[in-house]
Amino acid sequence: MSNVFVLDTNKQALNPVHPGRARRLLSLGQAAVFKRYPFTIILKSAASSPHVWPLRVKLDPGSKTTGLAIVNDASGEVVFAASLIHRGDAIRKRLEKRRAARRSRRQRKSRYRQSRFDNRGTKKKGWIAPSVQSRVCNVITWVKRLVRLCPITAISQELVKFDLQQMDHPEISGVNYQQGTLSGYEVREYLLDKWGRQCAYCGAKDVPLEVEHINPRSKSGDDRVCNLTLACEPCNTRKGTQDIRVFLAHQPELLAKLLAQAKSPLKDAAAVNITRWVLHAQLKAFGLPLECGSGGRTKFNRITRGLEKTHWCDAACVGASTPEVLHIGQVRPLSIAAYGHGRRQMCLMNKSGFPRTNPKQKKFKHGFRTGDLVKAVVPPHFKHAGTHVGRMSAKASGAFTIATAGGTVTDIGKKYCRMLQRADGYGYTQKGEVAFPPVP
Ligand SMILES: [Zn+2]
Repeated sequence: MSNVFVLDTNKQALNPVHPGRARRLLSLGQAAVFKRYPFTIILKSAASSPHVWPLRVKLDPGSKTTGLAIVNDASGEVVFAASLIHRGDAIRKRLEKRRAARRSRRQRKSRYRQSRFDNRGTKKKGWIAPSVQSRVCNVITWVKRLVRLCPITAISQELVKFDLQQMDHPEISGVNYQQGTLSGYEVREYLLDKWGRQCAYCGAKDVPLEVEHINPRSKSGDDRVCNLTLACEPCNTRKGTQDIRVFLAHQPELLAKLLAQAKSPLKDAAAVNITRWVLHAQLKAFGLPLECGSGGRTKFNRITRGLEKTHWCDAACVGASTPEVLHIGQVRPLSIAAYGHGRRQMCLMNKSGFPRTNPKQKKFKHGFRTGDLVKAVVPPHFKHAGTHVGRMSAKASGAFTIATAGGTVTDIGKKYCRMLQRADGYGYTQKGEVAFPPVP
């Protein structure tokens, strides 16, 4: 169990505590549960001039999953860790479905429709695709929540894949390329991007790639980045110390392509990720010191600290501020999946595109709403007797469906349900606890 967040009675964030201490405070009646996910308690007294540790929230933004970690820089303790699963794909699919529905509606032989106001074709400055926007919003939401729950004084974000500064104009000047050093990792990430994450000679993907000298060192080749490429182990061994012109003598087309690609430096734009820069701009607005790291440094930190490759470990290793030793023993990462807040579609359609259901009604049914986390205790002798905990979907009839760790149970009467946490647009999974179905 990870540490538990603590608020005082005025909702001022205090130091997170060990779960044992939180249990004791709860059993003594000195605190109450404030939030289930992430687990937070609220004290019944006000803390006067509390001594708080400065904590740092660290982010490793990804396209499907973003790693989150809260690290105490002084002690090296990872206080909280989570992986945030985005719903970019789900958004894209729904928009495509909407587009298809509209298209078929327009082309259908139907009554005369007045032409619509011409407001299409212009996009505001700074527009980003809805699926990208949702990722940015997910991360900002969680940074906001964490800032409210614990004393955060700094933010670290992985901004770029590799740090060109660390490499000093990679294509022009030589770098001390050495495996296992920070600049070595930056060079590797740079090469992975430049050569498309595949073996330059045979095109193999998803295999371990080695850094390869195009003109071998034994034949006066140097360590400049334009003389480096990536090859899989068999190709690297086969090439050995041969010159590339000898090695690829029977493949002149590939040889010409490789030599051309080696000369052209990677365009900066190719290394820029829109989501991360938009996120960067919005994180600045928090007014906290914002540190930016590179992917090369994250990997270097993670491997030198001996951590496994997970989203939250990567997040904990972002940036130059990473402590020499990271204590992760206590951490049980929380898996957070973005579900959104329902859909805008007013009614479902049949296969010909005609309305199939009544227009949707209000969201709240009998005091509950789809996405609420509930605990239902159904007495014996009833159908579905037992205790069910999970995310519910509200039905007008008052008989709810609950998605529990063990599967979905239907027709649970509203009177047996007790609210654990209001729907907040996210589903949560922690090992050994309630599991949620995958994002729709
Ligand atoms: Zn190969």
